Amino acid sequence: MTLHVNTPAIRSTVFSQRAGLDVYLKIESIQPCGSFKLRGVGHACAVLHGKGAKRFVSSSGGNAGYAVAYAGRELGVPVTVVVPETTSEKAKALIGSEGAQVIVHGSSWQEANAHAQALLDGGSEFIHPFDHPLLWEGHASMIDELALQCAKPDLIVCSVGGGGLLAGVGEGLLRNGWADVGILAVETEGTASYAAALEHGSPVELPAVAGLATSLGARQVCGRALDLARELEIKSHVLSDAEAVQGCADLLDAHRLLTEPACGASIAGLDSLRRHFPDARSAVIIVCGGVGVTAQQLQTWQRGPGG
Ligand SMILES: *Cc1c(COP(=O)(O)O)cnc(C)c1O
Repeated sequence: MTLHVNTPAIRSTVFSQRAGLDVYLKIESIQPCGSFKLRGVGHACAVLHGKGAKRFVSSSGGNAGYAVAYAGRELGVPVTVVVPETTSEKAKALIGSEGAQVIVHGSSWQEANAHAQALLDGGSEFIHPFDHPLLWEGHASMIDELALQCAKPDLIVCSVGGGGLLAGVGEGLLRNGWADVGILAVETEGTASYAAALEHGSPVELPAVAGLATSLGARQVCGRALDLARELEIKSHVLSDAEAVQGCADLLDAHRLLTEPACGASIAGLDSLRRHFPDARSAVIIVCGGVGVTAQQLQTWQRGPGG
């Protein structure tokens, strides 16, 4: 059973002219729960359902938890999402709207996650937000689709949080015979756990994460994201929150798509494509999406701190 939808890949003339190469957008923001997460989460949930899972447990108050709630309802499997006290009312309502049980526990994600783990019993399965092979296998379907939609691009641009999206893009490139396609891995300054891992040669835990790209806020990336850098040409790019927010505004203006700064970061990455990949003539940006944004919120972010 497939829970995600096939998404369009469109050429962006505005962004092509800006970047000086052919730019295409893979529009994951139109997935039913607003982000690419449904590809991997939906795949993992469907496989585990097939193996008899009686309940799905998540500890993400963000797009991953929302995707688990959606997938569980579609499959008829009860879902419990444990979130910390810091999770917004809006996020809890959204997850609850899919029929999932929302439990508020602890002041941080670590505490909520520990509680979620304690809830696991024989019939229930924990759905990790980024570190599981089933997730990567599911995310990779976006590259399978792309291979039918356009000619092989020279590079893919994607945002990196815990590295599940990156691992999925990498798996997709490898399984489609596109191993020579480069990847620009974009993060914000407050969430640069992948840049830190590349620098140290192993995943390192950041003391803290900060800023507006909250969906990129994993303190440590998965090992697979780092291993991939030995199999594919991956360049890391770190930019500011202001640039990520401007990326959201530019995407909204050019293509009328509203996304989180986690996604705006990839759009902002446009301006550095030529620097990282001087020979590239075409790029696909993964428009990863995210539901943690409103038009009004974007305006507030654009006014900057104190605005
Ligand atoms: C989860 C998420 C990311 C980052 O994905 P990882 O697999 O954690 O690297 C980026 N953008 C959005 C909108 C997300 O929900």
